[in-house]
Amino acid sequence: MVGRRQPDRGGPRVVIAGAGLGGVAAARRLARAPVEVTVVDRENYQTFSPLLYEVANCILDAEQVGHSVRALLRRCPNAHFRLGEATGTDWESKELLLASGERLRFDYLVLATGLPPTFHGIDGASEYAFPLKTMEDALRLRHRTLLRLEQAAARPSLVGEGHLDIVLVGGGPTGVELAGALAEVYLHAFKRDYPEIDIDRARIVLLEMSDGLLPAFHPRLRQYAQDFLEAHRVEVRLRSRIERVTPNSVIVADGEELRAGTIIWAAGLGPGQVSARLGLPHGPDGRVPVKRDLRLQGRDDTFVIGDLASLPRRHGGLHPQLAQFALQGGRHAARQIQRLLQGQPTRPFRYLDKGMVASIGRPAGVVQAGPLRLTGRLGFLTLSELHLLYLEGQRNRASVAVNWLWSGATRGRGASLLIEPPADGTREAAGVSNPVALSHDW
Ligand SMILES: Cc1cc2nc3c(=O)[nH]c(=O)nc-3n(C[C@H](O)[C@H](O)[C@H](O)COP(=O)(O)OP(=O)(O)OC[C@H]3O[C@@H](n4cnc5c(N)ncnc54)[C@H](O)[C@@H]3O)c2cc1C
Repeated sequence: MVGRRQPDRGGPRVVIAGAGLGGVAAARRLARAPVEVTVVDRENYQTFSPLLYEVANCILDAEQVGHSVRALLRRCPNAHFRLGEATGTDWESKELLLASGERLRFDYLVLATGLPPTFHGIDGASEYAFPLKTMEDALRLRHRTLLRLEQAAARPSLVGEGHLDIVLVGGGPTGVELAGALAEVYLHAFKRDYPEIDIDRARIVLLEMSDGLLPAFHPRLRQYAQDFLEAHRVEVRLRSRIERVTPNSVIVADGEELRAGTIIWAAGLGPGQVSARLGLPHGPDGRVPVKRDLRLQGRDDTFVIGDLASLPRRHGGLHPQLAQFALQGGRHAARQIQRLLQGQPTRPFRYLDKGMVASIGRPAGVVQAGPLRLTGRLGFLTLSELHLLYLEGQRNRASVAVNWLWSGATRGRGASLLIEPPADGTREAAGVSNPVALSHDW
C-alpha cells in the first residue's frame, strides 16, 4: 500500500539538501528508519540528466525526463518535501537555512546539491555560452535552436553568416552526446521541416582541449566516437584551448576565430555558491573533501554525496561524477545514519563501478563496463536500455520508449514547439545560470 504521510513522529531529524539522484536515494533508503526526513530542493522535480540532451534536441519533452519529487517520495511515509533553496547552515544550532528564512533543524544533514557548470574564468563564456546542466538549460537551448531556424527560414542569407553554426566546447560525454544528436537532427528532422533553408551549410564544431574525446573511456571507444562524429558532419578539433567567447564566436588559443550562432558549454562542473554559503572547504573543482565514510571532515553529523563529494579512489584519482556514485553514495549515507543511531561505528564507502556509456548519435553509442566494450548499434541499444532502467516511473519509461521507437523509425521530432522559456531569476540566485547568455536572444 502506498504510505500516507505521518508528519512529525518525533524521531531524529535528517535533512537532505538536494533531491537529485543522490538525495532521493538517501531518503528512500531511510523510508523504514525511525527518523523524520525532510528533503529540500529548489525545484519540485528531479532531473534525469543523462537524457537532458534529448530534451535540448527536441527528441523528448521535459516531463519525460523530470519527475515530481513528491511522487518519488510517495513510498517514504517519514519523508516530507520542502521547495526551497539552501543558503547556509548554522552549525551551532544544527540548522539548514533556506532562502525563505525558514530554518530546518537536523540531527543528521546530507548535502547532495551537486555542482554547477564552470566557465573556467574564460572571458565571455558565462555571458554568451549555453550550459547544459538543468532542465531550464535544456529548454533554453531547444528554444534557441528552433528560434534560429525560424529566423533563418525568414531570411535564408543568415545561414551563410553563421546563424545556424554551433560550436560545442568540451569533448566529454555531454559535448559528445549533444554533438551527435545535433548532427542527426540537422541532417534529418530539421532538413525536412525547414526546406527553405540550405541546412547543409551549417557547421557543428566540437572543441576539446585534450588530445581525444571522452577522456575517461578506453582508447578504442574514444577513437570510435571521434570517427563516427566526423563521419556525420561534426568537425572535431582536439588540443583546442578557448581564449575568449564573444556573442557570436569562439576564439581559440592560436588566435583563430570560429563563427558560432550558438555556443554550447560542456566543459565540466565547478565551485558553486552552496559550498561558499555553507562555509564548506572545497578544491578548485568545487568538490568538498569527505572522509572514507562520506562524512564531512570535522563534522560527525554531516554527509556529502554525489557530484559535490570529493573522495579519492584507492588506485588514484577521484570517484567519478556519475549517477552511480550519487546513487550508491546516497544509500551509503542513509545506512551510516542508521548505524550511528544504533550506536554502531560507520563503515567506509565502497564504490561498485558499473561502467560508463555515451550516445554519439542514432543509432550509435559506446559502452564500457569492466572488460566489456560495445560500440555502434549494440552500444546504443545497451545504453538506451540502461537509461530506461534508471529512468523514474513506468509511465515515463513507456512514453520515452515509444518516443524513441517513433523518432528512430521516422527520424522525426515531437518536441519542437517554440515556447518562450520563463525568465525568472531563480537559477541566477542559485548560482548556476548565465543570465546574459540566457536572455540575450529571446
Ligand atoms: C547533461 C548531463 C549528462 C549526464 N550523463 C550522465 C550519464 O550518461 N551517466 C552518468 O552516470 N552520469 C551522467 N551525468 C552525471 C549525473 O547526472 C550526476 O553525476 C548525478 O546527477 C549527480 O547526482 P547528485 O545527486 O549529486 O546531483 P544532482 O543530480 O545534480 O542533483 C542536485 C539537486 O540539488 C538541487 N540543488 C542545488 N542547489 C541547491 C540549493 N542551494 N538548495 C536546494 N536544492 C539545490 C538541484 O536542484 C538538484 O535537484 C550527466 C550529467 C549531465 C549534466
